Amino acid sequence: MSAGPSPSTSGAATTDVPAAAKVFALVGNPNCGKTTIFNALTGLRQKVGNYPGVTVERKEGTAFGQHGENFRLIDLPGAYSLSARSPDEAVLRDVLLGRRADTPKPDAVICVVDASNPERNLYLATQILELGIPTIIALNMIDVAESRDVVLDAKVLAAKLDAPVIPMQANARVGLIELKMAMTRDDLSASTYRTTIPSELEAALIKHVPALEKWDGETRRSHKWEALYLLGEHDPAHSGLSESERTRYRDARRKLEEGFSGWEETLVATRYDSIHAICKEAITHPHSDQPTLTDRLDSFLLHRFWGWATLLTVMTVLFSLIFSYADMPMGWIESGFEALSGWVRTVMPPGDLRDLITDGVIAGVGGVVIFLPQILILFFFIGLMEDTGYMARIAFIMDRLMSKVGLNGKSFIPLLSSYACAVPGIMAARTIESPKDRLITILVAPLTSCSARLPVYLLMIATLVPSEKVPVLTKVSFMLGLYVLGTLGVFVFAWLFNRFLLRGKSTPMILELPSYKAPTFKAILLHMWERTRIFIRRAGTIILGISILLWFLATYPKHESDDTGTQIEHSFAGRMGKTIEPAIRPLGYNWEMGVSLIASFAAREVFVSAMSVIYNVEDTGDEDLQPLRQRLLAANHHDGRPVFTPLVCLSVMVFYVFAMQCMSTVAVVKRETNSWRWPLFQFVYMTATAYLAALAVYQIGSRLGY
Ligand code: GDP
Ligand code: MG
Repeated sequence: MSAGPSPSTSGAATTDVPAAAKVFALVGNPNCGKTTIFNALTGLRQKVGNYPGVTVERKEGTAFGQHGENFRLIDLPGAYSLSARSPDEAVLRDVLLGRRADTPKPDAVICVVDASNPERNLYLATQILELGIPTIIALNMIDVAESRDVVLDAKVLAAKLDAPVIPMQANARVGLIELKMAMTRDDLSASTYRTTIPSELEAALIKHVPALEKWDGETRRSHKWEALYLLGEHDPAHSGLSESERTRYRDARRKLEEGFSGWEETLVATRYDSIHAICKEAITHPHSDQPTLTDRLDSFLLHRFWGWATLLTVMTVLFSLIFSYADMPMGWIESGFEALSGWVRTVMPPGDLRDLITDGVIAGVGGVVIFLPQILILFFFIGLMEDTGYMARIAFIMDRLMSKVGLNGKSFIPLLSSYACAVPGIMAARTIESPKDRLITILVAPLTSCSARLPVYLLMIATLVPSEKVPVLTKVSFMLGLYVLGTLGVFVFAWLFNRFLLRGKSTPMILELPSYKAPTFKAILLHMWERTRIFIRRAGTIILGISILLWFLATYPKHESDDTGTQIEHSFAGRMGKTIEPAIRPLGYNWEMGVSLIASFAAREVFVSAMSVIYNVEDTGDEDLQPLRQRLLAANHHDGRPVFTPLVCLSVMVFYVFAMQCMSTVAVVKRETNSWRWPLFQFVYMTATAYLAALAVYQIGSRLGY
């Protein structure tokens, strides 16, 4: 779907806690279970995603300690370090340093560490400890660690890090009480853990970084570390620093680079060395070295051949279910709207108002709402794939292709979520550090077949292969073809932009593969419910509005004629359609489709509702609402030829694969790129591609005699 906020913004935070309540911040790597712990502590509802980068906004809630004490809890963006290479990391660092006006400086931190991936997670954890804020380490995912045969000894870890370490399995609420008890403790103090910096580097730091003069001074032990993380900042766009601070740090960095080249790499290596040493003592391997279930599944699902074969099978099953299981609920919705329309006809006198309700409102909204069952099936599957960990595998095998066009796996996560809706997908691109990769990802994201295209595809496929006798697989292969075409578009344009438009190097990234797990149906149902709400809200707002508007445009001005075709052709909509008809005739479209096409610049599904309104207004008979596809099948040109030949249906579908028909996407791209330049560029390149591709389909198809 292409509008609405990201699904995770639903549960508004309740903050009716006295201002004096202690503020805890939840921090950790992406995907380590922060949101799960946040939900368990606050009881707030929120989407639980399954790969890095889902949590981009700040969330706040109220938590209760073991004895009913009030706490304020802030869920901070996931990050791998404090060196602020991405906006997310900058937000995290600035909140922890108390440098953001919109968020209180936390009194204490709950640092979530994924126990199944200790070395990478401890990187951030040790940085946090050095900031001098009292910190509790929530050692989460101990079940996964156990299954991977890496078990961390919490006692050893606590001694090494000088902080309480609480073993947890957050999704099963294991360790929650212990965590609450730790939060309640009033002797929670800052850790004394500090990474030992090599003396040569330390000397260079003191010499070149003015802010470090008070090195570990009496005032605040954390001073030096604060300065270090501020020094690591590269991109002023993410900065929470003031102009003068930024200049000071930039100068310091330059001098330092001259005085000790490679200082940053040395620091990173030093930190990893200390973490290695800790892990060596804290990690035990209780089991033998048998491959885990995840390993065995992955050797198949990530296989060069079987991986793709599985993906194709999964998609085929998904689309088959969409085509075969949605019929019945669709029939119910259809007869519901028919009955409603029939009822309106019996209780209201004939006239424009009645026509507005039946031909405008009911036909328009009903035409789109009927696709709800399919959309629900789609989101059930997306949720299932996310929650079991399979989605991350899709990203992994796609990553091999992505690297060929100059993008990396990190781009693929936003792109994958764009298959649901480009809007949250584009927002998720914030997690991409390289500005070039981020922009390319944003530019190609709307080419993925989002769920708003589903109604258009489904209507056209139903018109294209109307017979019940045609095997479901035929319809499925059309659907697969459309998804593949959109995906190819992503690759081709990413390659083109990478090659000709934007220069710069991509940062490689290692895609993290979570272990497989049994899905939590509650999370999936919640996810489906969010999408249903967004879908219905769109039907009740944008689609309703445009349907009413279109009804007026198609009904007025009234024309003195008995011939109804003439009446609608003289209406505002008719004249509009006639005006643009020359431009779309080469694609095989009539003026009715032209009007719908223009209306659907607001949102892709509007094409369906607009067709429904226009064909209902055009039909003056007082008969009941008819399924739209039957009307389309019956539509003829003036000379009696059918309008919706298979070729025209194909041409429409291909148009919608590429077209940028979504106001919300334009708005979010404007916001994320901070200019009109890129959304305009995107609009132009996508619309031009859509037009040319649809033109090619129709013209070549006609020449070939279809
Ligand atoms: P966040 O990105 O840090 O907010 O991580 P989430 O809270 O969204 O968790 C990511 C995934 O890990 C979700 O599917 C959770 O259900 C799951 N999860 C969280 N804690 C645990 C745990 O202790 N064990 C296991 N097996 N899964 C967990
Ligand atoms: Mg989260």
